[in-house]
Amino acid sequence: MAHSKALLVLENFIAGKFVPCSSYIDSYNPSTGDVYCRVPDSGKEEVEAAVRAAKDAFPVWSSKSPLERSRIMNKLADLIEHDLEEFAQAESKDQGKTITFARTVDIPRAVYNLRFFASSILHHTTECTEMASLGCVHYTSREPVGVAGLISPWNLPLYLLTWKIAPAIACGNTVVAKPSEMTSVTAWMMCKLLEKAGMPHGVVNVVFGTGAKAGEALVCHPDVPLISFTGSTLTAQRITEKSAPHCKKLSLELGGKNPAIVFDDANLSQCIPTTLRSSFANQGEICLCTSRIFVQRGIYNEFVKRFVAEAKKWKVGSPSDPTVDMGALISKEHLEKVRSYVKKAQAEGARILCGEGVDSLDLPAGNQKGYFMLPTIITEVKDESCCMQEEIFGPVTCVVAFDTEEEVVKRANGVKYGLAATVWSSNVGRVHRVARRLQSGLVWTNCWLVRDLNLPFGGMKASGIGREGAKDSYEFFTEVKTITIKH
Ligand code: NAD
Repeated sequence: MAHSKALLVLENFIAGKFVPCSSYIDSYNPSTGDVYCRVPDSGKEEVEAAVRAAKDAFPVWSSKSPLERSRIMNKLADLIEHDLEEFAQAESKDQGKTITFARTVDIPRAVYNLRFFASSILHHTTECTEMASLGCVHYTSREPVGVAGLISPWNLPLYLLTWKIAPAIACGNTVVAKPSEMTSVTAWMMCKLLEKAGMPHGVVNVVFGTGAKAGEALVCHPDVPLISFTGSTLTAQRITEKSAPHCKKLSLELGGKNPAIVFDDANLSQCIPTTLRSSFANQGEICLCTSRIFVQRGIYNEFVKRFVAEAKKWKVGSPSDPTVDMGALISKEHLEKVRSYVKKAQAEGARILCGEGVDSLDLPAGNQKGYFMLPTIITEVKDESCCMQEEIFGPVTCVVAFDTEEEVVKRANGVKYGLAATVWSSNVGRVHRVARRLQSGLVWTNCWLVRDLNLPFGGMKASGIGREGAKDSYEFFTEVKTITIKH
Protein backbone atom coordinates (compact mmCIF):
# COMPACT_ATOMS: atom_id res chain seq x y z
CA MET A 1 0.00 0.00 0.00
CA ALA A 2 1.08 3.64 -0.50
CA HIS A 3 2.55 5.32 2.57
CA SER A 4 2.17 9.08 2.67
CA LYS A 5 4.29 10.00 5.72
CA ALA A 6 7.82 8.80 6.47
CA LEU A 7 7.44 5.53 8.30
CA LEU A 8 9.31 4.32 11.31
CA VAL A 9 11.36 1.31 10.18
CA LEU A 10 12.52 -1.15 12.82
CA GLU A 11 15.55 -3.42 12.58
CA ASN A 12 16.43 -6.65 14.33
CA PHE A 13 18.95 -6.41 17.15
CA ILE A 14 21.52 -9.18 16.87
CA ALA A 15 24.94 -9.43 18.55
CA GLY A 16 24.74 -5.82 19.72
CA LYS A 17 23.96 -4.39 16.28
CA PHE A 18 20.85 -3.27 14.43
CA VAL A 19 20.46 -5.36 11.32
CA PRO A 20 18.01 -4.67 8.48
CA CYS A 21 15.75 -7.43 7.21
CA SER A 22 14.96 -8.38 3.62
CA SER A 23 11.20 -8.01 4.10
CA TYR A 24 8.90 -6.04 6.36
CA ILE A 25 5.34 -6.06 7.74
CA ASP A 26 3.12 -3.00 8.15
CA SER A 27 2.27 -2.01 11.69
CA TYR A 28 -0.82 0.11 12.38
CA ASN A 29 -1.62 2.87 14.80
CA PRO A 30 -4.84 1.42 16.26
CA SER A 31 -6.27 4.81 17.17
CA THR A 32 -6.14 6.16 13.60
CA GLY A 33 -6.06 3.04 11.45
CA ASP A 34 -2.93 4.33 9.66
CA VAL A 35 0.20 2.34 8.89
CA TYR A 36 2.97 4.15 10.71
CA CYS A 37 5.72 1.62 11.19
CA ARG A 38 7.40 -1.26 9.37
CA VAL A 39 8.48 -4.29 11.32
CA PRO A 40 11.04 -6.84 10.08
CA ASP A 41 9.40 -10.01 8.80
CA SER A 42 12.14 -12.26 10.15
CA GLY A 43 12.36 -15.96 9.54
CA LYS A 44 14.75 -18.85 10.02
CA GLU A 45 17.81 -16.97 8.81
CA GLU A 46 17.45 -14.08 11.25
CA VAL A 47 16.58 -16.40 14.12
CA GLU A 48 19.63 -18.51 13.29
CA ALA A 49 21.89 -15.44 13.48
CA ALA A 50 20.35 -14.34 16.77
CA VAL A 51 20.66 -17.80 18.35
CA ARG A 52 24.29 -17.98 17.24
CA ALA A 53 24.99 -14.58 18.84
CA ALA A 54 23.26 -15.64 22.06
CA LYS A 55 25.21 -18.91 22.12
CA ASP A 56 28.50 -17.08 21.63
CA ALA A 57 27.70 -14.65 24.45
CA PHE A 58 26.61 -17.36 26.90
CA PRO A 59 29.99 -18.53 28.32
CA VAL A 60 31.05 -15.06 29.41
CA TRP A 61 27.64 -13.84 30.60
CA SER A 62 26.85 -17.01 32.54
CA SER A 63 30.16 -16.87 34.36
CA LYS A 64 29.66 -13.30 35.56
CA SER A 65 28.63 -12.94 39.18
CA PRO A 66 24.97 -12.19 39.92
CA LEU A 67 26.10 -8.80 41.20
CA GLU A 68 27.76 -7.90 37.89
CA ARG A 69 24.66 -8.89 35.96
CA SER A 70 22.50 -7.06 38.44
CA ARG A 71 24.43 -3.80 37.97
CA ILE A 72 23.91 -3.85 34.22
CA MET A 73 20.20 -4.59 34.63
CA ASN A 74 19.78 -1.74 37.09
CA LYS A 75 21.52 0.59 34.67
CA LEU A 76 19.13 -0.46 31.91
CA ALA A 77 16.20 0.16 34.25
CA ASP A 78 17.51 3.66 35.00
CA LEU A 79 17.87 4.43 31.29
CA ILE A 80 14.33 3.32 30.50
CA GLU A 81 13.03 5.29 33.44
CA HIS A 82 14.89 8.34 32.24
CA ASP A 83 13.05 8.05 28.90
CA LEU A 84 9.77 7.00 30.50
CA GLU A 85 7.64 9.59 28.73
CA GLU A 86 9.06 8.71 25.32
CA PHE A 87 8.46 5.01 25.96
CA ALA A 88 4.92 5.67 27.21
CA GLN A 89 4.07 7.74 24.12
CA ALA A 90 5.42 5.01 21.87
CA GLU A 91 3.55 2.23 23.69
CA SER A 92 0.29 4.14 23.55
CA LYS A 93 0.66 4.88 19.84
CA ASP A 94 1.66 1.32 18.96
CA GLN A 95 -0.89 -0.53 21.08
CA GLY A 96 -3.87 1.86 21.30
CA LYS A 97 -3.81 1.98 25.12
CA THR A 98 -4.26 5.31 26.87
CA ILE A 99 -1.21 7.39 27.53
CA THR A 100 -2.22 7.38 31.20
CA PHE A 101 -2.11 3.58 31.36
CA ALA A 102 1.23 3.44 29.54
CA ARG A 103 2.67 6.11 31.86
CA THR A 104 1.40 4.64 35.09
CA VAL A 105 1.38 0.90 34.42
CA ASP A 106 3.31 -0.38 31.38
CA ILE A 107 6.58 1.48 31.49
CA PRO A 108 6.99 1.82 35.28
CA ARG A 109 6.37 -1.92 35.53
CA ALA A 110 8.95 -2.67 32.81
CA VAL A 111 11.47 -0.67 34.85
CA TYR A 112 10.41 -2.46 38.02
CA ASN A 113 10.71 -5.90 36.39
CA LEU A 114 14.37 -5.21 35.66
CA ARG A 115 15.04 -3.82 39.14
CA PHE A 116 13.12 -6.58 40.86
CA PHE A 117 15.03 -9.45 39.24
CA ALA A 118 18.31 -7.52 39.49
CA SER A 119 17.70 -7.55 43.22
CA SER A 120 16.08 -10.96 43.75
CA ILE A 121 18.92 -12.78 41.97
CA LEU A 122 21.21 -11.67 44.80
CA HIS A 123 19.17 -13.43 47.45
CA HIS A 124 18.51 -16.97 46.30
CA THR A 125 20.02 -19.83 48.23
CA THR A 126 20.29 -23.49 47.35
CA GLU A 127 19.53 -26.56 49.46
CA CYS A 128 21.88 -28.71 51.50
CA THR A 129 21.22 -31.82 53.54
CA GLU A 130 23.36 -34.34 55.37
CA MET A 131 23.18 -38.16 55.65
CA ALA A 132 25.51 -38.48 58.61
CA SER A 133 25.18 -42.26 58.92
CA LEU A 134 26.52 -42.67 55.37
CA GLY A 135 29.01 -39.85 55.65
CA CYS A 136 27.34 -37.93 52.84
CA VAL A 137 26.39 -34.34 52.25
CA HIS A 138 24.00 -33.45 49.44
CA TYR A 139 23.57 -30.00 48.00
CA THR A 140 21.96 -28.46 44.96
CA SER A 141 23.50 -26.08 42.51
CA ARG A 142 21.63 -24.03 39.93
CA GLU A 143 22.99 -23.13 36.53
CA PRO A 144 21.56 -21.09 33.68
CA VAL A 145 19.96 -23.18 30.96
CA GLY A 146 21.51 -21.56 27.88
CA VAL A 147 19.77 -19.58 25.15
CA ALA A 148 16.24 -18.67 26.23
CA GLY A 149 13.55 -18.10 23.61
CA LEU A 150 11.10 -15.46 24.82
CA ILE A 151 7.81 -14.86 23.01
CA SER A 152 5.42 -12.14 24.16
CA PRO A 153 1.98 -10.79 23.19
CA TRP A 154 0.67 -7.36 22.19
CA ASN A 155 -1.42 -6.32 25.16
CA LEU A 156 1.33 -5.20 27.58
CA PRO A 157 4.30 -5.12 25.21
CA LEU A 158 7.35 -3.94 27.11
CA TYR A 159 5.86 -4.92 30.48
CA LEU A 160 5.57 -8.59 29.51
CA LEU A 161 8.77 -8.72 27.49
CA THR A 162 10.83 -7.45 30.42
CA TRP A 163 8.97 -9.87 32.73
CA LYS A 164 10.78 -12.55 30.71
CA ILE A 165 14.07 -10.88 29.78
CA ALA A 166 14.83 -9.76 33.35
CA PRO A 167 14.74 -13.17 35.12
CA ALA A 168 16.31 -14.91 32.12
CA ILE A 169 19.43 -12.74 32.02
CA ALA A 170 19.59 -12.31 35.81
CA CYS A 171 20.03 -16.09 36.04
CA GLY A 172 22.85 -15.98 33.48
CA ASN A 173 21.03 -17.07 30.33
CA THR A 174 21.33 -15.19 27.08
CA VAL A 175 18.15 -14.53 25.14
CA VAL A 176 16.47 -14.30 21.79
CA ALA A 177 13.23 -12.40 22.26
CA LYS A 178 10.37 -12.12 19.79
CA PRO A 179 7.79 -9.49 20.68
CA SER A 180 4.38 -9.43 19.01
CA GLU A 181 4.56 -8.24 15.41
CA MET A 182 1.76 -5.80 16.27
CA THR A 183 3.65 -4.04 19.07
CA SER A 184 7.37 -4.10 18.47
CA VAL A 185 8.40 -0.47 18.91
CA THR A 186 9.24 -0.27 22.61
CA ALA A 187 11.33 -3.46 22.43
CA TRP A 188 13.32 -1.84 19.62
CA MET A 189 13.69 1.34 21.71
CA MET A 190 14.98 -0.73 24.63
CA CYS A 191 17.62 -2.28 22.34
CA LYS A 192 18.91 1.21 21.65
CA LEU A 193 19.79 1.53 25.36
CA LEU A 194 21.56 -1.79 25.83
CA GLU A 195 24.99 -0.59 24.79
CA LYS A 196 24.85 2.36 27.18
CA ALA A 197 23.72 0.05 29.99
CA GLY A 198 26.88 -1.99 29.44
CA MET A 199 25.10 -5.11 28.23
CA PRO A 200 27.65 -7.32 26.47
CA HIS A 201 26.85 -7.98 22.81
CA GLY A 202 24.70 -11.03 22.19
CA VAL A 203 23.18 -11.28 25.69
CA VAL A 204 19.89 -9.75 24.55
CA ASN A 205 18.92 -10.29 20.92
CA VAL A 206 15.55 -9.23 19.57
CA VAL A 207 14.10 -10.66 16.38
CA PHE A 208 10.93 -9.06 15.07
CA GLY A 209 8.30 -10.78 12.98
CA THR A 210 5.24 -12.97 12.94
CA GLY A 211 4.55 -15.96 15.12
CA ALA A 212 4.25 -18.32 12.19
CA LYS A 213 7.68 -17.43 10.78
CA ALA A 214 9.98 -15.91 13.41
CA GLY A 215 8.21 -17.39 16.46
CA GLU A 216 8.11 -20.89 15.11
CA ALA A 217 11.74 -20.74 13.93
CA LEU A 218 12.70 -19.92 17.52
CA VAL A 219 10.50 -22.64 19.00
CA CYS A 220 11.94 -25.24 16.61
CA HIS A 221 15.58 -24.19 16.98
CA PRO A 222 17.58 -27.09 18.47
CA ASP A 223 19.94 -24.73 20.33
CA VAL A 224 17.15 -23.02 22.29
CA PRO A 225 16.42 -25.35 25.22
CA LEU A 226 13.83 -23.17 26.91
CA ILE A 227 10.79 -21.21 25.75
CA SER A 228 8.90 -18.72 27.89
CA PHE A 229 5.67 -17.87 26.13
CA THR A 230 2.82 -15.53 26.96
CA GLY A 231 -0.12 -15.52 24.59
CA SER A 232 -3.17 -17.48 23.58
CA THR A 233 -3.97 -21.06 24.48
CA LEU A 234 -4.19 -21.97 20.81
CA THR A 235 -0.65 -20.77 20.10
CA ALA A 236 0.59 -22.55 23.23
CA GLN A 237 -0.77 -25.83 21.88
CA ARG A 238 1.14 -25.28 18.65
CA ILE A 239 4.33 -24.38 20.54
CA THR A 240 3.98 -27.49 22.70
CA GLU A 241 3.66 -29.68 19.60
CA LYS A 242 6.52 -28.02 17.74
CA SER A 243 8.92 -28.09 20.69
CA ALA A 244 8.07 -31.66 21.78
CA PRO A 245 10.73 -33.38 19.63
CA HIS A 246 13.38 -31.29 21.42
CA CYS A 247 12.01 -31.83 24.98
CA LYS A 248 12.25 -28.11 25.73
CA LYS A 249 11.50 -26.47 29.04
CA LEU A 250 8.26 -24.57 28.58
CA SER A 251 6.57 -21.87 30.61
CA LEU A 252 3.15 -21.04 29.21
CA GLU A 253 1.17 -18.01 30.45
CA LEU A 254 -2.14 -18.11 28.61
CA GLY A 255 -5.65 -16.79 28.40
CA GLY A 256 -8.38 -16.54 31.00
CA LYS A 257 -12.13 -16.31 31.46
CA ASN A 258 -11.95 -14.75 34.83
CA PRO A 259 -14.88 -14.67 37.24
CA ALA A 260 -15.70 -12.03 39.82
CA ILE A 261 -18.00 -13.31 42.58
CA VAL A 262 -19.93 -10.63 44.44
CA PHE A 263 -21.63 -11.83 47.63
CA ASP A 264 -24.49 -9.87 49.17
CA ASP A 265 -22.27 -8.60 52.01
CA ALA A 266 -19.76 -7.03 49.60
CA ASN A 267 -18.77 -3.42 49.97
CA LEU A 268 -20.24 -2.18 46.69
CA SER A 269 -18.58 1.22 46.94
CA GLN A 270 -15.25 -0.56 46.56
CA CYS A 271 -16.44 -3.44 44.45
CA ILE A 272 -18.09 -1.44 41.65
CA PRO A 273 -15.19 0.86 40.69
CA THR A 274 -12.71 -2.00 41.00
CA THR A 275 -14.86 -4.34 38.91
CA LEU A 276 -15.16 -1.63 36.26
CA ARG A 277 -11.38 -1.47 36.13
CA SER A 278 -11.02 -5.22 36.20
CA SER A 279 -13.44 -5.50 33.27
CA PHE A 280 -12.34 -2.59 31.11
CA ALA A 281 -8.78 -1.52 31.99
CA ASN A 282 -6.53 -1.49 28.94
CA GLN A 283 -9.68 -1.98 26.78
CA GLY A 284 -10.27 -5.31 28.53
CA GLU A 285 -7.06 -6.53 26.90
CA ILE A 286 -5.41 -7.95 30.01
CA CYS A 287 -5.33 -11.70 30.58
CA LEU A 288 -6.47 -11.01 34.17
CA CYS A 289 -9.53 -8.99 33.19
CA THR A 290 -12.89 -9.98 34.63
CA SER A 291 -15.38 -11.19 32.04
CA ARG A 292 -17.97 -13.08 34.10
CA ILE A 293 -19.50 -11.32 37.08
CA PHE A 294 -21.62 -13.48 39.38
CA VAL A 295 -23.73 -11.35 41.72
CA GLN A 296 -25.77 -12.78 44.60
CA ARG A 297 -29.46 -12.38 43.86
CA GLY A 298 -30.32 -10.08 46.80
CA ILE A 299 -28.07 -7.31 45.49
CA TYR A 300 -28.21 -8.16 41.80
CA ASN A 301 -30.51 -5.33 40.68
CA GLU A 302 -28.67 -2.71 42.71
CA PHE A 303 -25.28 -3.93 41.45
CA VAL A 304 -26.36 -3.92 37.81
CA LYS A 305 -27.90 -0.45 38.06
CA ARG A 306 -24.82 1.10 39.65
CA PHE A 307 -22.33 -0.84 37.52
CA VAL A 308 -23.99 0.18 34.25
CA ALA A 309 -24.32 3.82 35.37
CA GLU A 310 -20.59 3.93 36.11
CA ALA A 311 -19.61 2.14 32.88
CA LYS A 312 -21.54 4.73 30.89
CA LYS A 313 -19.31 7.42 32.40
CA TRP A 314 -16.16 5.83 30.96
CA LYS A 315 -14.74 8.04 28.25
CA VAL A 316 -13.54 6.33 25.08
CA GLY A 317 -11.38 8.35 22.72
CA SER A 318 -7.94 9.38 21.58
CA PRO A 319 -5.35 7.48 23.67
CA SER A 320 -3.24 10.62 23.89
CA ASP A 321 -6.04 12.49 25.70
CA PRO A 322 -5.22 12.20 29.43
CA THR A 323 -8.93 12.41 30.36
CA VAL A 324 -9.77 9.28 28.38
CA ASP A 325 -10.43 5.99 30.22
CA MET A 326 -10.26 3.62 27.27
CA GLY A 327 -8.28 3.78 24.03
CA ALA A 328 -8.42 1.69 20.87
CA LEU A 329 -8.36 -2.09 20.49
CA ILE A 330 -5.26 -3.58 18.94
CA SER A 331 -6.47 -4.22 15.39
CA LYS A 332 -9.40 -4.09 13.03
CA GLU A 333 -9.63 -7.89 13.05
CA HIS A 334 -9.61 -8.02 16.83
CA LEU A 335 -12.29 -5.31 17.07
CA GLU A 336 -14.47 -7.29 14.67
CA LYS A 337 -13.93 -10.45 16.69
CA VAL A 338 -14.88 -8.74 19.95
CA ARG A 339 -17.97 -7.18 18.35
CA SER A 340 -19.01 -10.54 16.94
CA TYR A 341 -19.31 -11.91 20.48
CA VAL A 342 -21.79 -9.16 21.35
CA LYS A 343 -23.82 -10.00 18.24
CA LYS A 344 -23.79 -13.71 19.11
CA ALA A 345 -25.01 -12.93 22.62
CA GLN A 346 -27.84 -10.82 21.20
CA ALA A 347 -28.79 -13.59 18.81
CA GLU A 348 -28.98 -15.99 21.76
CA GLY A 349 -31.43 -13.69 23.55
CA ALA A 350 -29.03 -11.93 25.94
CA ARG A 351 -29.54 -8.24 26.81
CA ILE A 352 -26.89 -5.64 26.12
CA LEU A 353 -27.22 -3.09 28.91
CA CYS A 354 -24.75 -0.57 27.57
CA GLY A 355 -22.03 -0.13 24.98
CA GLU A 356 -21.77 -1.87 21.63
CA GLY A 357 -24.95 -1.54 19.54
CA VAL A 358 -26.76 0.34 22.33
CA ASP A 359 -24.92 3.61 22.88
CA SER A 360 -23.18 5.77 20.34
CA LEU A 361 -19.48 6.32 20.20
CA ASP A 362 -18.38 9.92 19.89
CA LEU A 363 -14.85 10.08 18.52
CA PRO A 364 -12.60 13.02 17.61
CA ALA A 365 -12.20 13.67 13.86
CA GLY A 366 -8.69 12.15 13.74
CA ASN A 367 -9.83 8.90 15.32
CA GLN A 368 -12.83 8.01 13.15
CA LYS A 369 -10.94 5.14 11.51
CA GLY A 370 -9.51 3.83 14.78
CA TYR A 371 -10.55 0.54 16.36
CA PHE A 372 -12.71 1.77 19.21
CA MET A 373 -15.67 0.34 21.06
CA LEU A 374 -17.55 1.26 24.22
CA PRO A 375 -17.44 -0.70 27.50
CA THR A 376 -20.15 -3.29 26.97
CA ILE A 377 -22.18 -5.11 29.64
CA ILE A 378 -24.18 -8.21 28.79
CA THR A 379 -26.81 -9.82 30.97
CA GLU A 380 -29.43 -12.58 30.78
CA VAL A 381 -26.79 -14.77 29.25
CA LYS A 382 -26.52 -18.53 29.83
CA ASP A 383 -23.39 -20.12 31.32
CA GLU A 384 -23.05 -22.27 28.18
CA SER A 385 -22.99 -19.23 25.88
CA CYS A 386 -19.73 -18.58 24.05
CA CYS A 387 -19.64 -15.17 25.77
CA MET A 388 -19.46 -16.97 29.13
CA GLN A 389 -17.06 -19.69 27.96
CA GLU A 390 -14.54 -18.16 25.56
CA GLU A 391 -11.93 -15.50 26.14
CA ILE A 392 -13.11 -12.33 24.38
CA PHE A 393 -10.12 -10.17 25.37
CA GLY A 394 -11.95 -6.89 24.87
CA PRO A 395 -14.18 -4.46 26.77
CA VAL A 396 -17.08 -6.89 27.20
CA THR A 397 -18.25 -8.34 30.49
CA CYS A 398 -21.24 -10.51 31.44
CA VAL A 399 -23.26 -10.12 34.65
CA VAL A 400 -25.39 -12.98 35.97
CA ALA A 401 -27.17 -13.74 39.25
CA PHE A 402 -26.49 -16.62 41.66
CA ASP A 403 -28.07 -17.88 44.89
CA THR A 404 -25.65 -20.00 46.93
CA GLU A 405 -21.94 -20.34 47.58
CA GLU A 406 -21.96 -23.95 46.46
CA GLU A 407 -23.64 -23.03 43.18
CA VAL A 408 -21.36 -20.11 42.36
CA VAL A 409 -18.15 -22.04 42.94
CA LYS A 410 -19.35 -24.71 40.54
CA ARG A 411 -20.36 -22.15 37.91
CA ALA A 412 -17.18 -20.10 38.28
CA ASN A 413 -15.15 -23.28 37.76
CA GLY A 414 -17.26 -24.34 34.78
CA VAL A 415 -14.91 -23.09 32.06
CA LYS A 416 -11.75 -24.51 30.53
CA TYR A 417 -9.62 -21.64 31.89
CA GLY A 418 -8.25 -21.05 35.40
CA LEU A 419 -6.19 -17.87 35.55
CA ALA A 420 -7.56 -15.23 37.95
CA ALA A 421 -10.68 -14.87 40.09
CA THR A 422 -11.99 -12.08 42.28
CA VAL A 423 -14.17 -12.61 45.36
CA TRP A 424 -16.08 -9.79 47.05
CA SER A 425 -17.38 -10.40 50.58
CA SER A 426 -16.84 -9.10 54.10
CA ASN A 427 -17.13 -12.59 55.59
CA VAL A 428 -13.54 -13.71 56.20
CA GLY A 429 -14.44 -17.37 56.57
CA ARG A 430 -16.31 -17.40 53.28
CA VAL A 431 -13.52 -15.59 51.46
CA HIS A 432 -10.98 -18.23 52.48
CA ARG A 433 -13.35 -21.10 51.73
CA VAL A 434 -14.24 -19.86 48.27
CA ALA A 435 -10.67 -18.89 47.39
CA ARG A 436 -9.52 -22.41 48.22
CA ARG A 437 -12.19 -24.01 46.04
CA LEU A 438 -11.75 -21.89 42.93
CA GLN A 439 -9.75 -23.44 40.11
CA SER A 440 -7.59 -20.44 39.53
CA GLY A 441 -3.90 -19.62 39.71
CA LEU A 442 -4.66 -16.28 41.36
CA VAL A 443 -7.54 -15.25 43.60
CA TRP A 444 -8.00 -11.67 44.69
CA THR A 445 -10.47 -10.90 47.43
CA ASN A 446 -11.88 -7.39 47.81
CA CYS A 447 -9.27 -6.09 45.35
CA TRP A 448 -7.86 -6.73 41.88
CA LEU A 449 -4.41 -6.70 40.28
CA VAL A 450 -2.50 -6.26 43.51
CA ARG A 451 0.74 -8.12 42.87
CA ASP A 452 3.83 -9.00 44.83
CA LEU A 453 6.36 -10.20 42.27
CA ASN A 454 7.88 -12.53 44.86
CA LEU A 455 4.84 -14.78 44.63
CA PRO A 456 3.93 -17.27 41.90
CA PHE A 457 2.05 -15.97 38.88
CA GLY A 458 0.34 -18.24 36.37
CA GLY A 459 -2.75 -20.20 35.55
CA MET A 460 -4.16 -23.69 35.81
CA LYS A 461 -6.18 -25.71 33.27
CA ALA A 462 -6.05 -24.07 29.80
CA SER A 463 -4.57 -20.89 31.33
CA GLY A 464 -1.08 -22.22 31.45
CA ILE A 465 1.68 -24.46 32.60
CA GLY A 466 4.24 -23.34 35.13
CA ARG A 467 4.50 -20.27 37.31
CA GLU A 468 6.72 -17.20 37.15
CA GLY A 469 7.73 -14.85 39.99
CA ALA A 470 10.94 -14.45 41.99
CA LYS A 471 11.47 -18.07 43.08
CA ASP A 472 9.50 -19.68 40.28
CA SER A 473 11.27 -17.73 37.54
CA TYR A 474 14.61 -18.57 39.15
CA GLU A 475 13.69 -22.24 39.05
CA PHE A 476 12.42 -22.06 35.48
CA PHE A 477 15.40 -20.17 34.10
CA THR A 478 17.95 -22.45 35.75
CA GLU A 479 18.70 -26.16 35.77
CA VAL A 480 19.09 -27.69 39.20
CA LYS A 481 21.71 -30.29 39.92
CA THR A 482 21.95 -32.45 43.05
CA ILE A 483 25.51 -33.14 44.11
CA THR A 484 26.47 -35.74 46.71
CA ILE A 485 29.82 -35.68 48.50
CA LYS A 486 31.00 -38.59 50.62
CA HIS A 487 33.64 -37.81 53.18
P1 NAD B 1 -0.88 -14.96 20.36
O1 NAD B 1 -0.83 -16.33 20.94
O2 NAD B 1 -1.57 -14.78 19.08
O3 NAD B 1 0.58 -14.37 20.17
C1 NAD B 1 1.49 -14.27 21.23
C2 NAD B 1 2.90 -14.28 20.66
O4 NAD B 1 3.13 -15.55 20.07
C3 NAD B 1 3.16 -13.26 19.56
O5 NAD B 1 4.47 -12.78 19.67
C4 NAD B 1 3.00 -14.08 18.30
O6 NAD B 1 3.69 -13.57 17.19
C5 NAD B 1 3.59 -15.40 18.74
N1 NAD B 1 3.15 -16.57 17.98
C6 NAD B 1 1.99 -16.74 17.31
N2 NAD B 1 1.98 -17.95 16.71
C7 NAD B 1 3.16 -18.56 17.01
C8 NAD B 1 3.73 -19.82 16.69
N3 NAD B 1 3.09 -20.70 15.93
N4 NAD B 1 4.95 -20.11 17.19
C9 NAD B 1 5.60 -19.23 17.98
N5 NAD B 1 5.11 -18.02 18.30
C10 NAD B 1 3.89 -17.68 17.83
O7 NAD B 1 -1.51 -14.04 21.50
P2 NAD B 1 -1.84 -12.49 21.38
O8 NAD B 1 -3.09 -12.37 20.59
O9 NAD B 1 -0.62 -11.75 20.99
O10 NAD B 1 -2.13 -12.15 22.91
C11 NAD B 1 -3.35 -12.29 23.52
C12 NAD B 1 -3.40 -13.55 24.34
O11 NAD B 1 -2.36 -13.54 25.32
C13 NAD B 1 -4.67 -13.68 25.14
O12 NAD B 1 -5.13 -15.00 25.08
C14 NAD B 1 -4.24 -13.33 26.55
O13 NAD B 1 -5.06 -13.86 27.57
C15 NAD B 1 -2.88 -13.89 26.59
N6 NAD B 1 -2.09 -13.29 27.65
C16 NAD B 1 -1.79 -14.04 28.76
C17 NAD B 1 -1.08 -13.47 29.81
C18 NAD B 1 -0.71 -14.27 31.04
O14 NAD B 1 0.20 -13.85 31.75
N7 NAD B 1 -1.35 -15.39 31.31
C19 NAD B 1 -0.69 -12.14 29.73
C20 NAD B 1 -1.03 -11.41 28.60
C21 NAD B 1 -1.73 -11.99 27.57
